[in-house]
Amino acid sequence: MTKATATLMLKAGREKPVLQRHPWVFSGAIARISGNAAPGDVVDVADANGRFLARATFNPRSQIQARILTWEETPIDDTFWQQRLVQAIHNRSRLQLLPATTAYRLIYAESDGLPGLIVDRYGNYLVMQCLTAGIAQRKEQLARLLADLLQPVSIWERSDTDARLKEGLPRHSGLLWGAPPPEELIIQENGRLFGVNLYEGHKTGFYLDQRHNRTLVCQPHFVAGKEILNVFAYTGGFSVYAAAHGAGPITNVDTSASALTQAERNLALNDLERPEDTYLLGDAFQVLRHYRDNGRQFDLIILDPPKFAQSQRDVERAARGYKDLNWLALRLLRPGGLLATFSCSGLISTDLFQKILFAAALDAQRPAQILYHLSQGPDHPTLLTFPESAYLKGFVVSG
Ligand code: SAH
Repeated sequence: MTKATATLMLKAGREKPVLQRHPWVFSGAIARISGNAAPGDVVDVADANGRFLARATFNPRSQIQARILTWEETPIDDTFWQQRLVQAIHNRSRLQLLPATTAYRLIYAESDGLPGLIVDRYGNYLVMQCLTAGIAQRKEQLARLLADLLQPVSIWERSDTDARLKEGLPRHSGLLWGAPPPEELIIQENGRLFGVNLYEGHKTGFYLDQRHNRTLVCQPHFVAGKEILNVFAYTGGFSVYAAAHGAGPITNVDTSASALTQAERNLALNDLERPEDTYLLGDAFQVLRHYRDNGRQFDLIILDPPKFAQSQRDVERAARGYKDLNWLALRLLRPGGLLATFSCSGLISTDLFQKILFAAALDAQRPAQILYHLSQGPDHPTLLTFPESAYLKGFVVSG
């Protein structure tokens, strides 16, 4: 279906976000629907007087009932999707990540005018995440268009995320195009090698959003000869950079045994076998408390926890979690040491995260200074009309 089959009429006065180009229409803003629309169909959005505002995909099962694709009355056909994909791909090539970096986010949903679609590139393999009914319904069409544009070896779908449940869609993964990817795919990030498991790895396989933070936090003068604690290490992204720059002993902490195994392998892939490093399977809070009780100290601590706040009602609990974690970490920092601390909870703003850090520093009695403000990389751009697209924030703090 390329033309709208129905029109969502907004309540009087509820058109402002749409006019300001926010791409979501919540159920509470809708007065009525004229015509018939099934989940995933293209619908028009109109103001209370029936004036056309935008064209969107529809999903009555979601709180976000419409995801706006365009503010013009254009047909939503192959040409439309292809133009959006080409634009996003062009914007990524402008970043000049290749050849040193072969894995990056190619399509970042709303930020690229493609709500619900994430495509990450891992060398010649593409991983696609379909987060809305509109995208899920068109995944074969989108895979074909992507294959025409990029000639990948395969397109693998990783829609096995809980975000789909809010859309009334089941978790799903499987082959969309070409041959199945290998169990371990070797990618390059800033010239460093990483083995990625596209089937089981977190997100689409790798935390691509931390690329430039790994470079910044692991600068030679921050890490050389230093004792490092990499908490929530996953497959050792930060550790590989740190080891390459002559870090002292690195302790990697994670609750995932397979991630830690891969972390050790990733160091070896870069000819950085290091008997002095430790891979500790355990809960970050428990490990940090144990170190505190035993008076352990580190020169650089990296805290990159998973998303603590999944929804608005989690925010308070999440804030307490972040505070505890940062408080414990600051206690373990040698005087003059560095803490690189992150939050990938979209619902915790940078401002709130800074306040949490303030409270942690106050309680830890550390005169902490922020040296750097960190964010997700430029292949995960923030759309100004959609501030929700900025989710990763971090600080490098001198303790
Ligand atoms: N810094 C990593 C990404 C971290 S993602 C990188 O650069 O690639 C968050 C990690 O935290 C995941 O690997 C997950 O397994 C781990 N994790 C989740 N809960 C944890 C907990 N309570 N204690 C330790 N690790 C945890």
